[in-house]
Amino acid sequence: MAKQNEELTSKAAVFRSRLIEWYDQHARELPWRSKPSLYKTVVSEFMLQQTQVKTVLPYFKNWIEEYPDFRGLAKASEERVLKSWEGLGYYSRARNLRKLAQQLSEMESIPTKAEDWLGFPGIGPYAAAAICSISFNDSAAVVDGNVVRILARLTGDATLYKNSGEAAKRYREIAEKLLNHERPGDHNQAMMELGATLCLKQNPQCLLCPVNAMCKGRLNGNEATLPRFEKTKYEAKQVDRVWIADKEGVLLHKIPSHAKRMKGLHEIPTADQAGIRLNGQKPILQKKRSITKYRITESFYRIDRGVLPEPLAEGCKWTRKSDLESLPLSGPHRKWIGELLEM
Ligand code: SF4
Repeated sequence: MAKQNEELTSKAAVFRSRLIEWYDQHARELPWRSKPSLYKTVVSEFMLQQTQVKTVLPYFKNWIEEYPDFRGLAKASEERVLKSWEGLGYYSRARNLRKLAQQLSEMESIPTKAEDWLGFPGIGPYAAAAICSISFNDSAAVVDGNVVRILARLTGDATLYKNSGEAAKRYREIAEKLLNHERPGDHNQAMMELGATLCLKQNPQCLLCPVNAMCKGRLNGNEATLPRFEKTKYEAKQVDRVWIADKEGVLLHKIPSHAKRMKGLHEIPTADQAGIRLNGQKPILQKKRSITKYRITESFYRIDRGVLPEPLAEGCKWTRKSDLESLPLSGPHRKWIGELLEM
């Protein structure tokens, strides 16, 4: 591998100029790229983590209208921010973005180096490098799944990695050697753009690729199989939820602030959360979904309101149907509630 890396980095100057020329001609027009600002860059980087551009576009537009700057976002309540984020998933991003806005709007001067952003809420090495290179021209290379894919293919690296994180560590050095120090922000965006539009997971568009002449994977004919990762071992999980509704409202559970995930969001309660014991009844609805390594079967049981404990179990609240629209709910739960209300 060291030989392939050297081969690629020895052509770093050609790589940089081909990539940047291609980016200058082909970069997509995206709302965070027109009249860019630190705020727009930060919001877009948070929204784009684990999420595709086309999903982010309407959220970004609404967000900038609702919270035009760090101060506006810092003042908003967590509940309102979660509501605006509803449907984008990974809600810790919204909470961290609000906390970050609170910190930044109180600072006299905002740091411009990636390493100084690492302690901020929700900021890891990737976001720090992306934000500081784009907003402050800091020479910090981004290494995310897109970059790993491009570099594994360019170097023809068939190593079997545990996961993308392990591969990212392995590729940091080479990404830094390839970085364009005159235009680090554009170089990083060009890498992301190449990964998102041409060096696709399936069917990479090598004929259109500006660096195809130096791509070992393409030369070997195995580019589409790279990078290689160990298969994820999934665990099956069963979740039993109770659907308790009448003409007026439904029972929901608010995820407490000490929970690991989704805090502050409302969900259809599990039987345990509602303090209900199920007695062999049949579910009225079943849904399957995957979260991290879990393959989850969610079963919903219709339960009569009369059997609810008095007072209601902790975190559970009777919610008027007319209030459902304004409450922050996770995307799947909003969908399921819609289906259950129709049944
Ligand atoms: S030639 Fe193909 S596989 Fe290689 S970097 Fe370009 S798009 Fe990716």
